Amino acid sequence: MRQTSITIDLAALTHNLQRVKDYAPTAKVLAMVKANAYGHGAVNCLPAVAQADALGVACLQEALELQQAGWQKLMVVIEGAFSLAEWQYCTAHQIECVVHHQRQLDWALQQPAKKGATVWLKLNTGMNRLGFTVGEIKEIAQQLTSSGYEIVLTTHFANADVIDHPNNQQQFELFDSTLQMLREQVNPAIKGSLCNSAGIVNWSDRHYDWVRPGIILYGATPVNHATAKQLNLQPVMHFNASIMAIHTLKAGDSVGYGSRWTAQTAARIGIVSVGYADGYPRVISDDAYVVAAGQQAPIIGRVAMDMLMVDLTHTTEVNLDCPVQLWGNAPSIDEVGGWNDTISYELLSVVTRRPTWIYQS
Ligand SMILES: *Cc1c(COP(=O)(O)O)cnc(C)c1O
Repeated sequence: MRQTSITIDLAALTHNLQRVKDYAPTAKVLAMVKANAYGHGAVNCLPAVAQADALGVACLQEALELQQAGWQKLMVVIEGAFSLAEWQYCTAHQIECVVHHQRQLDWALQQPAKKGATVWLKLNTGMNRLGFTVGEIKEIAQQLTSSGYEIVLTTHFANADVIDHPNNQQQFELFDSTLQMLREQVNPAIKGSLCNSAGIVNWSDRHYDWVRPGIILYGATPVNHATAKQLNLQPVMHFNASIMAIHTLKAGDSVGYGSRWTAQTAARIGIVSVGYADGYPRVISDDAYVVAAGQQAPIIGRVAMDMLMVDLTHTTEVNLDCPVQLWGNAPSIDEVGGWNDTISYELLSVVTRRPTWIYQS
């Protein structure tokens, strides 16, 4: 059988959730499992995140899948409802919604809230993607409060991964002053939720009532100044394949589509059973490598749909059927993202069903 697999280490996921609690001991944890738990398979990950206070999903469909799989605690839909029917479904089934737009507000205000119904009210503090302005937020908070809703004021950082980015300070100050104002002028019980993974690591004094960890749960670094290992995170996804052929080339022979790599001297090359149809990125820099038999083997030539090629000239102990790691312990997902001019989030969330999937508890 083709030895291409994705192993999800559920104990690592639980460990990383505990790391979040170490960083934010007083805040509640909204564990972000949107996009199928960043590609890890949300339903299968549920036991590992059971200690979260709530789960964050992008849309109602994602929430329904998890409810049907047996999740009974709170869920928060971060894009909110897309129709009145969705809004009504959520309020009837203890699913809380972000309200970021006037039409969602209109749906919320059509009927008085059920007891304890909570709205995650989105404030735009400078990302300029979703949310109400500081100028309009007080009146909206008053309307929601009059209708009987409890409120979590929330916003999202645009540059949290860069600890000293000047916009962070601006967003933080705007969020903080708006929350204080609403607590004084509308309702002292209004709660706050500011930090994603990077915020959790970077600003321990800004955790407010709810933190919203995503990427940190999956063991990739959320910040540009520390590796996942330095933060004591454990990789959750391990992407592996194996050597399916080995050849010797002579100087001048080229390899793969576009003949992008040419042997300068006699070379020993390995063909690895993984390609872009499995979720390994096609466009990758010349620094890219895989790890086989504990050693780095450089990727050469173009990554194809089903295969990629590596230079084994200096790793003679790598033979046929030798296991190869694409990402996991080494290389880390963050390294692979760097070679591909992207981020861990994208690579993790677009792996495919084609490899053999293994959940390890
Ligand atoms: C996805 C998301 C998060 C989690 O972000 P990470 O950078 O993965 O921690 C937090 N809040 C909102 C609103 C999100 O959309």
